[in-house]
Amino acid sequence: MFARSALRWRRPPALTLALALLVLAASAVEAQFGALPPDRSSLLDDGALHVVICGSGAPLPSAERAEACTAVIAGGRMFLVDVGNGSLENVRLWGLPIDRLAGVLLTHFHSDHIADLGETFFASWVSGRAEPLDVYGPAGVDRVVAGFRMVYELDVSYRIAHHGEEILPPAGAGAVARTIDLTDDAPTSAFYDRDDLRISAFLVDHEPVAPAVGYRFDFGGRSVVISGDTVRSANLEQASQGVDVLVHEVLSEAVMGMAAQALSAGGAERLGKLVADTLDYHIYPRDLHALAAEAGVGLLVLSHLAPPLPAAQANAVFLRGRAEDAPNDALVAVDGMHIALPVGSDDRTVGNFGEHQP
Ligand SMILES: [Zn+2]
Ligand SMILES: [Zn+2]
Repeated sequence: MFARSALRWRRPPALTLALALLVLAASAVEAQFGALPPDRSSLLDDGALHVVICGSGAPLPSAERAEACTAVIAGGRMFLVDVGNGSLENVRLWGLPIDRLAGVLLTHFHSDHIADLGETFFASWVSGRAEPLDVYGPAGVDRVVAGFRMVYELDVSYRIAHHGEEILPPAGAGAVARTIDLTDDAPTSAFYDRDDLRISAFLVDHEPVAPAVGYRFDFGGRSVVISGDTVRSANLEQASQGVDVLVHEVLSEAVMGMAAQALSAGGAERLGKLVADTLDYHIYPRDLHALAAEAGVGLLVLSHLAPPLPAAQANAVFLRGRAEDAPNDALVAVDGMHIALPVGSDDRTVGNFGEHQP
């Protein structure tokens, strides 16, 4: 039995009480909603070019792969290249610094690349972005931006009325379409150059979707190219010469071809034709591995996987056709893959932000 004095309750100092309440509140939140997202704002200014795969899938449904999205973080800024369905949830769960989103770069306007644009406007504004968001893209980007803005107009008015303009500055709800004009005669444009961060766009071949573009980022001597959707493209090959990382889309003609045949043979001709039609405007694994080797890239990341197979099968399917003596490294993307390229070195680290998700 305890002595009476040991049980006597003593009033704790105010600070101790406040801390105890804070801990209790935090653990109550965690118990009810899961852990709060980590703070990854240090990625902004740690002297490296960061690449994060926030969506490695393609239009077919997948429980573990969001649709097309690649985040690039460097020099105090974050950019998102494409924002397919599910990608913004990843960005927020992993605590990427969306309040410092300096722009969205759209490669083309297929739904699996633009579906989360409205959520991108909203999440970055609520996180603290106070200026209109720049949305870059080929001709047509103004229509896409105007459409998403209109869809979110009522919600924006509710939020401002509810929380006030000081908390949610109306300017931050805005977005500005920035059209990148490219032609066959001038297929490349270096359209962004601020604080040692340069971004260029180049035409790719995703016919009948035109124009469609890819992007190259350069920061302090480190570089990454993101393909968008394309068959093997000479412009992309030129832009990828000696690049540290090439994030490229890919389609398995073997698996998708079999699926199309099986659907048609089973009486689902319409679906079979839809799947078969995808075979002519994406690159196949063998051609992509050859491109990466010839362009002298450091690391090829195969993403926008069609079909979006689970990791174990995806490695077998998409690394097929890679030469045993290939000069470059190659990885099949997973959602959460994080590649850091420190400036002033040839180092590269690869991690995964998605591993600790509940
Ligand atoms: Zn596409
Ligand atoms: Zn696509």
